[in-house]
Amino acid sequence: MMHPDTTVRWIDDDVGLGVVATATIPVGSLVWVRDTLDRVVSTHQFDSLPPLQRAALRRHVWQEGGRWYLTWDHGRYTNHCCEPNCAGLDGEFDLAIRDIEAGDQITNDYGWLAMEVSFACRCGARDCRGWIGEDSSSPPDGALVSPYLDALRRLPHTEQPLWPLVADEDGVGFDMLRSRYSEP
Ligand SMILES: [Zn+2]
Repeated sequence: MMHPDTTVRWIDDDVGLGVVATATIPVGSLVWVRDTLDRVVSTHQFDSLPPLQRAALRRHVWQEGGRWYLTWDHGRYTNHCCEPNCAGLDGEFDLAIRDIEAGDQITNDYGWLAMEVSFACRCGARDCRGWIGEDSSSPPDGALVSPYLDALRRLPHTEQPLWPLVADEDGVGFDMLRSRYSEP
């Protein structure tokens, strides 16, 4: 589920729809959390879908462990940027890795995700990699890890509207989230 201070808007004819902040979202905020309403599609299910549905799904799913995940709300419209303002390491949650102002588009680096799309990137970032998808370069080594870990440290000190979704899931709490990652 996406942060409540976000909405989906038409970005432009190149990009299509995107997710935009409607208020300031500070660094360290949980911007997206995987929840029980998200759809998990097995490889078998995916392969057995008609081509029209497979093509539509490919635009919005990411793959992990042989399964596809489809976010049920407007999180599925989160676009790529080579200098993203959000990052996640394991498909469980995304954090704001810098302060996001009202009107800013919420972005992720698809190079960290096994996305089912390839496209020429026109994100406008200074170090735009130009092509995203199969055979595309991943984010430069460590480029997002350090800001991500900084954001993770701020997580317990930041107002978290999505926290109940994290805490309710088998008692998973901040300590468990933090313990998944080694300090740099
Ligand atoms: Zn780019």
